[in-house]
Amino acid sequence: MSAYTTIAELLQSGADDAVAIRAPLAQPLSYAALRRNTAATVAALNAFGVGRQDRVAIVLPNGPEMASAFVGVAAAACAAPLNPAYRADEFEFYLGDLNAKALIVEQGSASAALAVADKLNILVLELLPTAQGAGAFTLRPLKAAVAGLAPVAASVAAADDLALILHTSGTTSRPKIVPLTQANVCASARNVGASLQLGAADTGLNIMPLFHIHGLIAGLLAPLAAGGAVFCTPGFNGLKFFGWMQEAGPTWYTAVPTMHQTILSRAPQNSAVILANPLRFLRSSSASMPPQVIGELEAVFGAPLIEAYGMTEAAHQMACNPLPPAVRVPGSVGLAAGPAVAIMDQEGQLLPAGATGEIVIHGANVTAGYENNPKANAEAYVGAWFRTGDQGVMDDQGYLRITGRLKEIISRGGEKISPREVDEILMDHPAVQQVVTFGIPHDKLGEDVGAAVVLHQGHSASEKELREFAAIRLADFKVPRKIVFLDEIPKGATGKLQRIGLAAKLGLAQG
Ligand code: ATP
Ligand code: MG
Repeated sequence: MSAYTTIAELLQSGADDAVAIRAPLAQPLSYAALRRNTAATVAALNAFGVGRQDRVAIVLPNGPEMASAFVGVAAAACAAPLNPAYRADEFEFYLGDLNAKALIVEQGSASAALAVADKLNILVLELLPTAQGAGAFTLRPLKAAVAGLAPVAASVAAADDLALILHTSGTTSRPKIVPLTQANVCASARNVGASLQLGAADTGLNIMPLFHIHGLIAGLLAPLAAGGAVFCTPGFNGLKFFGWMQEAGPTWYTAVPTMHQTILSRAPQNSAVILANPLRFLRSSSASMPPQVIGELEAVFGAPLIEAYGMTEAAHQMACNPLPPAVRVPGSVGLAAGPAVAIMDQEGQLLPAGATGEIVIHGANVTAGYENNPKANAEAYVGAWFRTGDQGVMDDQGYLRITGRLKEIISRGGEKISPREVDEILMDHPAVQQVVTFGIPHDKLGEDVGAAVVLHQGHSASEKELREFAAIRLADFKVPRKIVFLDEIPKGATGKLQRIGLAAKLGLAQG
């Protein structure tokens, strides 16, 4: 693999007539056509006055146009994909915060982003699909008169220019702005490809949102960097997943654990599709995957489930379990997979194997710092090491286990409780399908322990029974005082379970 450091170079990986982008019921787009579309996008943006230092927000539904718009924009400037589900207030915050110069929307878009762009004087470009294949498009200014924007000289982004700006998921605090250079993003795409041994013969089925780092890097850029194909869906849908699988004939897919669990629950009635479309592997990242679910998925798909560890600030991947015949360890996120990974204590000293501390990383994929956030930056770096905010332990073989998020640790009257530990114990109960443990504000203790549980269909269990089950293996202070039963656990925009603030969302009073 060549040492590409820009998006434009990364797209050179595929053979001219090889398929780059596919979509349901659409003509495939070849690498030659994707490169032409990208060059035309760069030229159009330059002509509209958008150059290497500018930020271009993208508000498009998931799908082939979103994929090709992202690579086209990122070849010329800095792309800032935003969740199309945002409301006016959110767009106002993000578009202003990003300092967006242009905004790309679909033709006839009714997005609340349009009014905000008007107010902030942001150039709006409509994306018009063309007949060249899945994802091919041209751009047209929404308003004929483009005020005050003179064309810039023809220019393709260089390695140190930004390729991508994203906000973190906001799981533990207000989302932070993460700028990633072309070189950061390319390094990460390469790391993912190396971990998964992706090649030209692979087709990835992308169900991940393309406004999140997981989808952009593992779902889209890693397969393109390997010269393989991406089948771009409109976004995860448990009812459509197996139909897409049948149409795409993928060799792999990547997802967050909640999606894998939905897929697993629908597998029994889709066993013929699974049998007819053998996968090389399944990949999971962005949140912890219960070992029970890994075992069940592997049995159902007859393929290894590769769990990886990623974060926005690392342009996604930090660690990954190896493919067979090497050993993957359920409950571990695998070995360092790109950046250097180590464990550090709160004083900034690196710790030996077996010791628990904060996971720290450094490497070509890691951001140089949050934007407009000196306070977060001052806390985030210790020398060259970036502090992930995750707590973990590494064994003497280098396998990393995440034991929790430092900010999510529950402090009950001074006793520290890892919510993950409680989750893992309750998951062992046969009736429990999903569980998320969280802190409930408490006037005397500061916090007490609560858990929200989803039961398997057709199973029942009482709060008392689950508390007693937990008490067999957990010290009394860790046993949830309150367990609520839900049909579904509320998630953030990227499909992640959010512990912080869950007590308030569920209306759990203190006392
Ligand atoms: P914020 O930083 O705003 O609180 P966030 O950390 O959830 O949000 P992301 O960058 O999307 O935003 O997520 C990265 C985090 O997801 C990691 O720091 C880690 O806590 C968690 N994570 C990622 N992969 C895994 C995994 N395989 N197992 C457990 N946790 C994971
Ligand atoms: Mg984070």
